[in-house]
Amino acid sequence: MIIDGKRLISNLVRLRKLTDTPGAGVTRFSYGEQDAKARQFLVDRAREMGCTVRADRVGNLRIGLPSNRPGRPVILCGSHIDTVRNGGWLDGIYGVCSALEVLETLAARDGNETAGGDDGLLNVDMVIFAEEEGSNFGSTMTGSKFLTGKYGEEDLDRLTDDHGSAMRKYLERAGLGTEGGTDHQFLDPVPWDLSQAAAMLELHIEQGPVLDRAGIPIGIVDAIFGMRVLEVTLTGVGNHAGATPMDERFDAMTAAAECILAAEATVAADPEKRTVVTIGKIEALPNCSNVIPETVRFTMEVRNRDKGKIDGYTERIAHGFRQIAMDRGISCQIRDHSSSEPLPLDEGIGEVIRQTAERAGIPYRVMDSGAVHDACMLAEAGVPTGMIFVPSIDGRSHVPQEDTKEEDLIRGAKLLLETVEQLRAHPPQRR
Ligand SMILES: [Zn+2]
Repeated sequence: MIIDGKRLISNLVRLRKLTDTPGAGVTRFSYGEQDAKARQFLVDRAREMGCTVRADRVGNLRIGLPSNRPGRPVILCGSHIDTVRNGGWLDGIYGVCSALEVLETLAARDGNETAGGDDGLLNVDMVIFAEEEGSNFGSTMTGSKFLTGKYGEEDLDRLTDDHGSAMRKYLERAGLGTEGGTDHQFLDPVPWDLSQAAAMLELHIEQGPVLDRAGIPIGIVDAIFGMRVLEVTLTGVGNHAGATPMDERFDAMTAAAECILAAEATVAADPEKRTVVTIGKIEALPNCSNVIPETVRFTMEVRNRDKGKIDGYTERIAHGFRQIAMDRGISCQIRDHSSSEPLPLDEGIGEVIRQTAERAGIPYRVMDSGAVHDACMLAEAGVPTGMIFVPSIDGRSHVPQEDTKEEDLIRGAKLLLETVEQLRAHPPQRR
């Protein structure tokens, strides 16, 4: 029995219409009206199958196969349904709709084959993570951070939107966070009890160009990039933009410009071409068109799968910044802002996905991921975790143009199902 490819695509097409910005990509923020409609659609499908549907107080959903047996280890699979503003139609929801296909297929089969008997197979739960993109509160993977215990009670007030409205308010408005919301709200406590979680699988679009360029339909993720973020403050001398001659300026902005280009040149020297550097946030003071900027503050983040490389490139770039500032007579302060360790995914699960792809004759590439996903939070919490990627056409994502060929979408879902079947029969070892 294989997944129903037509049904998968038609579900995705239906959910694509649940957007706040029709004609300009998908905008579906967690706890909003379109999010509620998408949840209802998925919950209705699950109910028709006879699945159990549970939520937790931050809106993560957990949908169990009807044939699940109490106390048995469980394979989790799923992703998120929220988007960035004017995002694409596949990011997140593709992994959710594919997990739904897995449930549909297994529910139909279990119903046919195991009436009354105990097949000894592991349980399967589909997971829908809330607020992955950080669109509301600027914090990514919020739902999975709550369910793994990285976030707790106090974060419900700490996390606020641009207008200062707290996450707790959002949950109240959406009827979440309390008993007696919508009828599927059997509340699971956060953090979840993951002691019975035998595996976590997330199928996702790649969001980068590697698979599409290589013409390879499947990526098996073996590691997630870590990162280190510095905050750099350059301070020169503010002065009149007209009256100060060019050779008497201590312009923090032109110094910043030189620093930014130098950072780019430093990582361009990486022979593997996998180190990435981003200056994503910059502010100038006083930020007036007719004043030479006295202070410029910016963030600089370096990402790679190798911690040694992250630190090595970060140090070299920081050294370059100090040199540039000194040559220009400008002060340079650098402080560590934040960091995350590179994360290896479970080798055993990766091997099962690899063998499953091989048996099915599907070409694949073992690759790392520059983007972080909900599954990573479960991996950090000790759940053996695997991720499967399908190609993104032209490597585009988080934009309305985000797309993947139908045949690739169907192939990915098929591989997900076959992997779940393998893991159900041959449970992975928890380290
Ligand atoms: Zn995503």
